[in-house]
Amino acid sequence: MDLKPFMKNTQENKQIGRLVIVAYRLPFKIVREGEGVNLFQNSGGLVSAVLSLVGDGAQNPIVSGDKIQWIGYADNSPEELEGLSLENDSFKAHPVFIPDDVNENYYEGFCNDLIWPLCHYFPTHARFDDAYFQAYQQANELFFEKLDEIIQPGDIVWVQDYQLMLLPQMIRKKHPDVKVGFFFHIPFPSYELFRMLPVQWRKAIVEGIIGADLVGFHTNDYVEYFLKAVRMVLGHGNKLHYINLSNRIVKIDSFPISIDFNKFNDAYTDPEVVKERELARDMLKEKIIFSVDRLDYSKGILHRLYGFERFLEENPNWHGRVAFVMVVVPSRDTIDRYQQMKSEIDQTVGRINADYGNINWQPIIYQYRSMTFAELVGMYSTSDVALITPVRDGMNLVCKEYVASRQDKHGVLILSEMAGAAAELGEALIINPLDKQNIADSIKLALDMPIEEQEKRMKVMRSRIREYDVFAWTNDFFTQITMIEQEHEKLKQVFLTDQGIGEIRDAYRASKNRILFFDYDGTLAPIVADPAKAIVSREVKQLISTFAESDTVVIISGRDRHFLSELFLDLPVHIIAEHGALIKAKGSSEWVLNESYEENWKESIQPIMDLYAKRCPGAVVEEKETSLAWHYRTAEDREYATRRAQELVWQLKNYIQPELNLQIIDGNKVVEVKKTAFNKGTAAKDLVETGSYDFIMAMGDDKTDEDMFIELPDTAYTIKVGDMLSAARAHLRSQEEVFSFLSKIKD
Ligand code: UDP
Repeated sequence: MDLKPFMKNTQENKQIGRLVIVAYRLPFKIVREGEGVNLFQNSGGLVSAVLSLVGDGAQNPIVSGDKIQWIGYADNSPEELEGLSLENDSFKAHPVFIPDDVNENYYEGFCNDLIWPLCHYFPTHARFDDAYFQAYQQANELFFEKLDEIIQPGDIVWVQDYQLMLLPQMIRKKHPDVKVGFFFHIPFPSYELFRMLPVQWRKAIVEGIIGADLVGFHTNDYVEYFLKAVRMVLGHGNKLHYINLSNRIVKIDSFPISIDFNKFNDAYTDPEVVKERELARDMLKEKIIFSVDRLDYSKGILHRLYGFERFLEENPNWHGRVAFVMVVVPSRDTIDRYQQMKSEIDQTVGRINADYGNINWQPIIYQYRSMTFAELVGMYSTSDVALITPVRDGMNLVCKEYVASRQDKHGVLILSEMAGAAAELGEALIINPLDKQNIADSIKLALDMPIEEQEKRMKVMRSRIREYDVFAWTNDFFTQITMIEQEHEKLKQVFLTDQGIGEIRDAYRASKNRILFFDYDGTLAPIVADPAKAIVSREVKQLISTFAESDTVVIISGRDRHFLSELFLDLPVHIIAEHGALIKAKGSSEWVLNESYEENWKESIQPIMDLYAKRCPGAVVEEKETSLAWHYRTAEDREYATRRAQELVWQLKNYIQPELNLQIIDGNKVVEVKKTAFNKGTAAKDLVETGSYDFIMAMGDDKTDEDMFIELPDTAYTIKVGDMLSAARAHLRSQEEVFSFLSKIKD
């Protein structure tokens, strides 16, 4: 049998495109000097990480060796940059100009006065202002316009962070085939916080993000929260990491960002770093505790001070023998809230130093400034303890840098459980940053920790960061984007043409022993509002009857046996009801229960469904023989019911233990729970194996039919009705085409 016309497109001849980064900031600061220009490249992690993807240094480059195209906001005026070439050896910059008033509401407003506090669990700091959202949309469009000017076929676009959440969808609409990745660098909050956003905003945000092919977060928790937001806000469920949209899939996964391990590790012996280290050692006391972070309420600076104070209070034996060097890097300090926080920090440091210090000893050495790289690594590599206690942090790189800087494997990391990094650095002393007693106890434990214990913990953490450094992170992300593309290719819809239909007809005619599987709703019968009225038309039924004269015909449905028996009683066909749980063989009047079916599970699930039905006017619970179904096709308020359905699925998923072997089917306006031991796939396969068929065909429209498409042999003609992504080999556009298709086969 020649399968070629049915084969989906392959990856052959795919050109490697350029890498286009879109981020709020450009990779360098642009300073005009007369007719020329100076470009000061950032040393940030992302900049060096993406460089590793292109050029000679890259093993198996994923993108072309061309310069990286980078779209970002320029704080210069268009006139200032007129006629300048904004490129260096690695990057070509495409500046986006945003009018100051828009940028104010966009960046300071929507991004930093709403999204930042909300995502860092400070909803009371969040300001919901219509002007903010308008500016956010406007700014995202400006980024899009710039991208639209430069985009070429084959390019991979990588969109960065919470400033550009609407952009992936804008790209998808105009350039459906462009590969788009999106990375979210801050925590994605639990749904209870996310839902505080006005309905239209949260919808736009979630829709915007899933315009990408691949969406990355730092941790599995953030992935889970985002998946819940997608389900609650848009009603799209997920299968593991995948969200199946009608014509494409989106992968949501965790990629914990990291650092350039070698840069920090190798700096240990750098003469400048050695000098800084020795200087710090000479000046400071017996033991050094160190912290460094930007001025931000998410960093837990005040709580850290309270924890240190508690430590001093409880451990007079350490007075005079320890110094806590706390560096706070200036940030956003023109904003009231930050200024206020800074003065509170100043006062608290002053108070603790006054209460516990003396002429020879100051417990806290506090600096409000930024550090050079040598100073930073000097401090990292000399400090006995790093005290990293954010109350919320997407990842936190400082803790990873501390570990990487310890070539000597000495030092103890105290790390907040609220930092994304805690998921990877379990060998640190993990603390609750709001619990001052917990901080105080950990400081004591850290200062007393034997060297062997320090080495043991450091060794494990170092090897983990060394292995998954920032280059592995980028590489991982891009490998996944490429894999998603292959996945897409596999799932790409091939709509049947006359030629395709002709081939199936030829194969049908050339065979002798045929088996045909037909799903009922959406395949043989149209989908209508009242399921009781979904009746197969006379012509289709007549055709089925003609097929049944020469072939084994199987009606395979999720419906109950009474409904199906009544409709097909007069036809010589096999009927499979309730997704494979009940089978009635051709000619027999007896229904046989699938032998793997076990009773005794419904009592625990039914009350949950009943409760949801009570709360949702028009929704009903149907008890089938082998499953329970929560229908909401007839609900009064469809949108409300859809939200309720998503909550129900979510609750069932959390409630149902794996050992119950139950499966939740998030179907077309129905949520159904049944045993996992069988499905349409296993039922179809069992039947196929009982005969030696030389022609197998299966048609279906719903998610449950996918099991059938997957389980049947590769030679089977599997046909999906509709354009949803499918494992089937070919598609018909709609149920109305089914009759004409079948007539042509039987012609
Ligand atoms: N850092 C800096 N200037 C300094 C001190 C530190 O740029 O004076 C760097 C530090 O090395 C780290 C980054 O700032 O790479 C802070 O990253 P992190 O993820 O810990 O926090 P963020 O500031 O991004 O919230």
